[in-house]
Amino acid sequence: MDSFAIDFQDTETLDFVDSEVVDDDLSVNLYDDEFQLYQIEGTRDSFTLEYMKDVLAFVDSGTYSFNTIQHRFRRVRHQRYISRFREYVNQQGTTSVKCKEVTNYTMQKFKNARENLLPVHDIDLRRWAMDKAREIQFINFNASRAWVLNLKNENKIVSRKITHVVTRHNERDQQAIMSSATNFLNEINGKIANYNKDYIFNTDQSGFKYTFYSTRTLSNAGESNTSVLVDSTNATTHSFTIQVMISLSGKVMEPFYICLQESGGTFGPRVSQNLFNPGNCVINCSNSGKMTKQLVRHWGEQCLKPVCEENSLLLLDSWTGQSDNNLFNFDNVVVEIGRIPPKTTPLIQPLDVYFFRQWKIFVRKIYDRVALDKLDYDLKNRNSVIRIHCLIHNQLKAPVFQKMIQYAWFKSGYISDFEGPFQNVNEVCFDVIAESCVIDLSQCTKGVFIRCAYCRNTLCFKHFYNGRCFH
Ligand SMILES: [Zn+2]
Ligand SMILES: [Zn+2]
Repeated sequence: MDSFAIDFQDTETLDFVDSEVVDDDLSVNLYDDEFQLYQIEGTRDSFTLEYMKDVLAFVDSGTYSFNTIQHRFRRVRHQRYISRFREYVNQQGTTSVKCKEVTNYTMQKFKNARENLLPVHDIDLRRWAMDKAREIQFINFNASRAWVLNLKNENKIVSRKITHVVTRHNERDQQAIMSSATNFLNEINGKIANYNKDYIFNTDQSGFKYTFYSTRTLSNAGESNTSVLVDSTNATTHSFTIQVMISLSGKVMEPFYICLQESGGTFGPRVSQNLFNPGNCVINCSNSGKMTKQLVRHWGEQCLKPVCEENSLLLLDSWTGQSDNNLFNFDNVVVEIGRIPPKTTPLIQPLDVYFFRQWKIFVRKIYDRVALDKLDYDLKNRNSVIRIHCLIHNQLKAPVFQKMIQYAWFKSGYISDFEGPFQNVNEVCFDVIAESCVIDLSQCTKGVFIRCAYCRNTLCFKHFYNGRCFH
């Protein structure tokens, strides 16, 4: 079981471009530097902007022969240099004006977001800058990491950690936990060879609040208390649970399970008629939004049984709701259970060690984008919750993530030979800035939200949310 509080320990895993990151693809020079040399196309030399301006000022101050001009400015070797200079200086003028426009717009968006206590990350600054650049047709502009670094330095913006919760065990506990983890690993590793890798599974539940917020944000330096807005309505106390299963071969199994919180533990007839289901999940509910023993049995029938086409090994944690050994008795196949010892799940449960974190990064991206860009979506209702997790499940099932899931098993100690590298959610889906949405190009001038893990197309939030890349 992966609880919300534990999730706070994982703030380091968020995609944060820290200020140490140096990137020299600075394609736009923000500040006119009088000592900066520019290589001018069509000339054999480099010139400062100042020099070029002096030449043009002289040329424009009267009618001079080229000889006179050259006598005064010896580095102007040919008549055509003058027209090249003029082109460059004019363009430079518009470039710096456009740069200022982009910077002002980005800073305005940043200030508004912080005044409203919304979390901001580097990627948001870059996106806002690109939005503005597109709008004013500033084609050569690239909101590179260096550009962001520069913007942050100039405006004293730093990255801060908002919440830090660490759970501590004392040393003796720690030793006991380590040895039961080691024993379990030895036991399971002795059995792995008996099974097909497609039929060695890990399943677990992960709890979510209806509101989900980022634990790190960009903030003004010197601001002593960094806070982000937490929706104070009832929704924060409500929760729901998903149950997911992955295989040692690196697959995400389908369907997965969603347990919503409903008073009385049942859906009213109206509600169940209108539940959204794109087909990759099984939806149920309980009073608390947590799984019950009955629901675990239901999960077994609906989610486990269909994929156990041969004898299988299933790793799950020691949660009491699933401690009954007769819970998963199917007719044709044997499902051997490996029960992960208490308190060892952060160390040796593949879903906790790597996979759920990736899932939560995805959730966070969605909630942050909607909050930050004030998009008109209510992410707290049942169907939105279902939609979000179905979209995430579908993306994470893409073959490109198979290696990442194998890594989760490797890091937990069940695979001894793993050859990297692999790509995680941030690298596959969210490392996009410049491209535009591929759907309805003319209507989608807004920033890209995601690159699809299957087709690699880039989509705006609306088109992703509407399921245009549900593969
Ligand atoms: Zn779009
Ligand atoms: Zn796609």
